[in-house]
Order: sequence, then C-alpha cells, then structure tokens
Amino acid sequence: MPLVSTSNILETQNCVLALNVVTLEHAEAFVSASQITGTGLVLQLSENAVKYHGSLAPLGSALLQIAAASATPIAVHLDHATNRELVTEAVRLGFTSLMFDGSNLDFEQNVSETRAVVEQGHANGVWVEAEIGEIGGKDGVHAPGVKTSVEDAVSFQRETGVDGLAIAVGSSHAMVEKQANLDLQRISEIAAQVPVPLVLHGSSGVPREQLVAAVEAGIRKINISTELNKTFTESIRRSLSSDSAMVDPRKYLGQSRAELEAHVVDYLLLLCIR
Ligand SMILES: [Zn+2]
Repeated sequence: MPLVSTSNILETQNCVLALNVVTLEHAEAFVSASQITGTGLVLQLSENAVKYHGSLAPLGSALLQIAAASATPIAVHLDHATNRELVTEAVRLGFTSLMFDGSNLDFEQNVSETRAVVEQGHANGVWVEAEIGEIGGKDGVHAPGVKTSVEDAVSFQRETGVDGLAIAVGSSHAMVEKQANLDLQRISEIAAQVPVPLVLHGSSGVPREQLVAAVEAGIRKINISTELNKTFTESIRRSLSSDSAMVDPRKYLGQSRAELEAHVVDYLLLLCIR
C-alpha cells in the first residue's frame, strides 16, 4: 500500500489533504494522523522548503521512507516547483506526485512548460498538478480576488494534460485568519467541465464549513500549510515560555508534534471521512 501516487488515493477517497512538511516532525505527525483515521494523504515539500534545507534529497528521502513504512496510502509530492531541474531530481528520487508552478509565465508559455513536465511525469508514473498563470498577477491563482474562468480551466487542462488543476476561487496563501470567502458556484461550474481533480491552495484562510462545501462542490485535493504551522509554532511558544529551563528539543517538538497530529485527525474526520 504505502507509497502511492495522488491518483491512487483519490480512487478510494472523495478528497485528499495535502500537507506541507517543514521538519521531520511534521511528516511524523501527518502520517500518524493518517493511520489513526485510516485515510490516505499527501506529504508535500515545497520548493521554498527545499531552499530552506539547502537540498531536496535529505528530507525528501526521509518522506519516501516514512511513506513506505505507512499502513495507509501516502503520496510524496513536490509543491510549487518552478525549477525544472528540481522536478527532475524529485522524479529521480521517487516522488510520486508534483505541482509545476508556471504562474509567472504567460498563458502560452505556461501551457508549453507544463505540458513538458506532464510528459516527464507520466513517463515515470508521477501525478502532475499545475495552475493557471494570471497575466500581470503577482501571485498567480493565489492573489486575492483573482478567479479562474471556466473557459481558461477547460482549455488549460485540455492543452497540458495535467492530472490535477489548481484553481483560484477566493482563497489566498499564508492567511493566518479564516477570512476567505469561496466562490462555490464557480467550483461547481469548473468541476462540471474539467475531467480531472480540482485543487484548492491557501485553504488555511477558509472557514471549516466552507471547506466542507468546497469538497461537495467538487474540490478533491486540499492544501493546508499555514494553519498547521500556527498550531506547531504556538505549541513550541507555549512550551518554552512555561519552562525557561527546558533544553531538550524532544520535549517541545514532541509536544508540538502531538498537537499537530490532533489537528490533522480533526481535519481528516471533517473532510475525508463522509
Ligand atoms: Zn499553494
């Protein structure tokens, strides 16, 4: 079962959570939550997290090992890749899933680059997600107020052959408060026309009941990062400020890992078991 592609998980679940890993403790918490609930999920390593660690292989290999040892199906995904060499390295390492981010390119260039990544991915059994770039938009599909049109979604998917499509429907990256307002109507319209799973980025800023409604409207992969990092960091802050003599990182990281796990269990029960 263990290490699978995102499409394998979506064969048996109506939606999948894709959770960003920064430290090894994140991955341990996520996979443990997956086993507690008996649901598969996606471990994501973003290009930014790779830059932070200085290279892909050390943490990437650890994620692959953690997935391989899991009783529940786990995909290991490269998130927001803009660098084609990094894509190649992830594929070579054994990642089963990736997102190519061509949102800074114009539509035609995004289509041709994405299509090349899709061909590379498919030749290696890798599930490929992409997003539609917004001309002039600084943050692509994640800029507040930007929405993907049904026509763009249909033509982009058809021309690139992507397996998953990230759409802009009102969420935005790195929100620490739940103030986003999703366009559920637009999600349903796109889901009716696009034959592959739709992906929601920036889900941390979306109220829980709207995430449930988004899944009902047709979102199948939900990316969550900021909200979980908030839980992780708040736990560490609490531990350190409650005991100024604490020096063993396992004490505060172990506690934050447990709180992260509980948070993810809660989300898996809310969204993926219905
Ligand atoms: Zn994203």
